[in-house]
Amino acid sequence: MNDTDSPLLSGLVAARELRECAKCGTRFIGWSWHNHCHACYRHLKSDPDAPQHDPEAETRLLRMELEMIRLELAQERQAYLGIVDQLATLERACMDLKTERDLWMDRYYKALATRASRRSVIPPGILRRLLWLCHPDRHGDSEAANTATVWLLSQRKKQ
Ligand SMILES: [Zn+2]
Repeated sequence: MNDTDSPLLSGLVAARELRECAKCGTRFIGWSWHNHCHACYRHLKSDPDAPQHDPEAETRLLRMELEMIRLELAQERQAYLGIVDQLATLERACMDLKTERDLWMDRYYKALATRASRRSVIPPGILRRLLWLCHPDRHGDSEAANTATVWLLSQRKKQ
């Protein structure tokens, strides 16, 4: 990953554009401040009597320019592939976090359910005292004492 290179690269690519020569109308790739094609620029800078075109030099310059553009393109592509790779990594991390969140939510709901069921259970110490208090032997084997004892015993089985 080359995070430091890509903004500079995109800046370079953005600064270079297809331009039209102000003198001869030829289209060329240059910086935004270039107003003349290579041939006209050299002609303007040199002796007006000098030959206007040097096809070999022009070809050399164009080849250099093409090579530079190819290099920029390759670097841009590399940066793009790096970003795609990073995106895939982030998407995987996001999936993992969602799975983990679901797991914790599941645990949370289970804990809530457990707490709710525990709340309705009579604590063992209290249950023992209640059984002792309403034992049928203490209440003349009454129907109320028997019913209450059966229910209290059923609560003990749930624990
Ligand atoms: Zn020109």
